[in-house]
Amino acid sequence: MKELVEAIQAQGKGIGTDIVKVDMFLNHRLDTELYVKMGQAFADAFAPEKPDLVLTVEASGIAAALTTAMACGNVPVVFAKKSRTRNVTGDVYQSTVFSFTHGVENHVRVAKEYIPAGAKVLIVDDFLANGEAAQGLCDIVCQAGAEVIGIGVCVEKTFQPGHQKLEEDGYKVVALAKIIGIRDGQLLVED
Ligand code: 5GP
Repeated sequence: MKELVEAIQAQGKGIGTDIVKVDMFLNHRLDTELYVKMGQAFADAFAPEKPDLVLTVEASGIAAALTTAMACGNVPVVFAKKSRTRNVTGDVYQSTVFSFTHGVENHVRVAKEYIPAGAKVLIVDDFLANGEAAQGLCDIVCQAGAEVIGIGVCVEKTFQPGHQKLEEDGYKVVALAKIIGIRDGQLLVED
């Protein structure tokens, strides 16, 4: 997506060899116009599959999930909550996800009542790295007896294996921008 690629090129930074910092418009300060356009792009990509709800994980996936859900005809957003303990209360689906950015294992959970069996679920997140977050969400959808109709990510890092893993699992993956490498703090973005 042209506008996202331009924002990354103008304002993104690389940290080390594998972390992308886009706090100026995606992760800390949110560019609302860009978020609305990204939501529309995901809706365009997945419209034929007619999602019943959009699923993400707190916190950084929520903004993109919200604009996507609005562009899909105001379907609900459900976000998985993170917890570092196994101390889960209530009737929930949960999965274990290793956090790439924080280096810890999180248990992500969703109340069972929010994912009806048979629902068509579109998963949306801000980044795709090793695919852990998306795989955890797919696991939750599977536990619910619902169906993942696709996975949309704003930014994919193509030098990490997430996309390939998810495609091998049989999912349609759409990335709006692809970072192909980081060199001396500069992001190499696919045109
Ligand atoms: P994965 O589970 O695919 O390894 O990583 C995806 C999750 O980690 C996303 O939810 C995102 O919040 C975070 N993440 C992974 N890589 C990056 C990165 O380079 N920059 C930022 N800001 N977040 C990242």
